[in-house]
Amino acid sequence: MNENTIDCPLCGSEVETAIIVLNSFLSTEGEHELKSCKSCGFAFRVQLPNQSSKDVDMNKLGLVYGDYTAGTDTINERMMKRVKNIAKLYGPEPRLLDVGCGSGQLIQFANDNGWQACGTELNGQSTDERIFPVDICTADLPGHSRASFDLVHCHHVLEHVSDPKAFLIALASYVKPGGYLCVEVPNELESLASQIKRLLGKKYNGATAYFEHLNFFSPTTFQYLMGALPGFDTTYLRTPFIGYGYSFAHAFFDRFQVLISKGAVIEFLTQKEFELDGEK
Ligand SMILES: [Zn+2]
Repeated sequence: MNENTIDCPLCGSEVETAIIVLNSFLSTEGEHELKSCKSCGFAFRVQLPNQSSKDVDMNKLGLVYGDYTAGTDTINERMMKRVKNIAKLYGPEPRLLDVGCGSGQLIQFANDNGWQACGTELNGQSTDERIFPVDICTADLPGHSRASFDLVHCHHVLEHVSDPKAFLIALASYVKPGGYLCVEVPNELESLASQIKRLLGKKYNGATAYFEHLNFFSPTTFQYLMGALPGFDTTYLRTPFIGYGYSFAHAFFDRFQVLISKGAVIEFLTQKEFELDGEK
């Protein structure tokens, strides 16, 4: 049998090391190659590009690692909507935890809108004293009580962690009963743009290589991961409109791919049950 076997981070099945056709498309060839689980379909890699190749690519893009808003000054509309919509469900001063908060734009917005918000950022580039560094791979958040947040928000983080399942379970433990967990990841394999490029034999020009993605979710595998969270009920999974920094043609195309549920990102909202052990 093949000695080079590893376990799928989602379902635990043994995955044989195999080069698949996506590697050339995503520039994840060689030692950074993508594996695909035959049991659950999850695509992932276990090794990242080296530091120097990352720095070159990042410089080309004019981005800083940990830049939450992809070079723009403000958070995007869909983040504002999450905060506003969930705030309506609660009384005064609901509590928000933003895990992977970059320089804290969402925290600022939430605090300006009546929340008590705080955040965590592995890269620790923020000067905001409400933000403190954490080990984002274990989601260990010193100084915070578990089950105490109305909303735990995690935006484009899960594609970077080596054990997404364990990370998610840790995140979920900070949501209070009746509170929400909102997670967004890129839809790099199944967005319409990605599928068209693959058909045309073009390379994917997304953030895959630049941002050291380990995990490549599709709506199906993301639903599988999020839906397995004990004590949570799915509110929705969707591929929303991105809506910033676009030309008119680009925005039109994105509207269309969102319409057919093949948008560029996958957004998942789930609510923690009020009675975890079914008593009452
Ligand atoms: Zn699997």
